[in-house]
Amino acid sequence: MENKDDCIFCKIVKGEIESEKIYEDDNFFAILDVNPKAEGHTLIISKQHYKNILDVPTSLGGEILDAIKKIGLKLIKDKKGEGFNVCVNMGEVAGQTVHHFHAHIIPRNSGDGLSGVV
Ligand code: AMP
Ligand code: ZN
Repeated sequence: MENKDDCIFCKIVKGEIESEKIYEDDNFFAILDVNPKAEGHTLIISKQHYKNILDVPTSLGGEILDAIKKIGLKLIKDKKGEGFNVCVNMGEVAGQTVHHFHAHIIPRNSGDGLSGVV
């Protein structure tokens, strides 16, 4: 389990690792997932190193919802999906591999064969 100093998402925030940034606000930014489950698979990442959703201040909840809505609507508008899944993996047992808060937004289309869980 990585700490703040060797955290890949902290390095992306600092620009030390390249990424395709598609959204940014005061506390979050969004990039395309490097290993997408579907075209347009996006990660909303906190700028601060919160290790998981339990670590994120509740006061940022509205901002996260705002980011989900803006990015999700854009994915639909850009015809990446008719809808989307929002998924947060909390803990390794739930599939969390990067220990820096992020939410997945996965575009969904009828017959895409994906399940509802990442
Ligand atoms: P999780 O399993 O919820 O921790 O998801 C971590 C996600 O981060 C995975 O879907 C990875 O494909 C993605 N990921 C890991 N490294 C990078 C990177 N450098 N750029 C974009 N996405 C990444
Ligand atoms: Zn980090």
